[in-house]
Amino acid sequence: MIRATVWGENVHEQTSEVVREIYPKGIHNAIADGLAEDKDIQTRTATLQEKEHGLTEDVLNDTDVLLWWGHAAHDKVEDDIVSRVHKHVLEGMGLLVLHSGHYSKIFRRLMGTTCSLCWREAGEKERLWVCNPGHPIARGIDRYFEIEHTEMYGEPFGIPVPDEQIFISWFAGGEVFRSGATWTRGNGKVFYFRPGHETYPIYYHDDVKRVLKNGVKWAAPEGSRWVDSAPNIPVEKAPEPITSWGESVH
Ligand code: ZN
Repeated sequence: MIRATVWGENVHEQTSEVVREIYPKGIHNAIADGLAEDKDIQTRTATLQEKEHGLTEDVLNDTDVLLWWGHAAHDKVEDDIVSRVHKHVLEGMGLLVLHSGHYSKIFRRLMGTTCSLCWREAGEKERLWVCNPGHPIARGIDRYFEIEHTEMYGEPFGIPVPDEQIFISWFAGGEVFRSGATWTRGNGKVFYFRPGHETYPIYYHDDVKRVLKNGVKWAAPEGSRWVDSAPNIPVEKAPEPITSWGESVH
C-alpha cells in the first residue's frame, strides 16, 4: 500500500458558501476520496488548523506521498513545518503540489524561483495535452482531456526547467501553461499539477482523479529514505586499510 497524506488549508470551505456547496467535506477529503478508489492507495488528511498543521514527524514518517492544496493562507503555514516537509522530501517522500499550491512556501523553497504565473477567473474551457504519452503519470489518458469550466493559469510560469513535462494546457481565451511537470529534489520526486480551482468541481473529474492516482504511484519512494547527515568515516572504518597522513583541523 502507498500511504498518501492529503494536506488542505481548509479555509475557503469555512468562508465561502459556494466552495462549501461543492466540497461539503472539504477539498482535502474530496481529493482523498478520489485517491481511495485505488486499492493500492491508503489515504489520510491533514489541515492547517490542526496542531503542527497535522504534519508531525510521526505523520510524515508514515507518509510516502504528500499532496498539497493551499490558496488563501500560504503565509499562515509555520516555517518550522515547511522546513520539516522540505527535509522529508529531500530524504525521499514524494510531493504533489496542486493548483494554487504553486505559491506555497514549500513549493517555492523546493523550486528556488518565484513560481509566479498569470491568471483569470472566467470559467473558461481548458484542454490538457499529454506531452509524454509513455510517462506513468499520463497512463490511461488519451491525447488530451478537457475541463469545461476552470480558472486560467498562463505562462510565464516562474519555475526551473522541469525534468519532465507531462501536460501542457490550452485555454479558450488563448493562453497556454505547463500544467503538469516533474522534478526531483534530493531523493524526493515532485509533481506539480495545475487543475483544482475551489469554485469549480474539478476534483470529481475522472481524468483529474486518474492523474492524481498515477501521480501518487509515480512519486512514491522506490528505495529506503536516505538522511543527509554528512557522517565522518574514521580511518579504521575505511573499507580498505589505509594509513592516516598529514594534519587535520577537525
Ligand atoms: Zn484558483
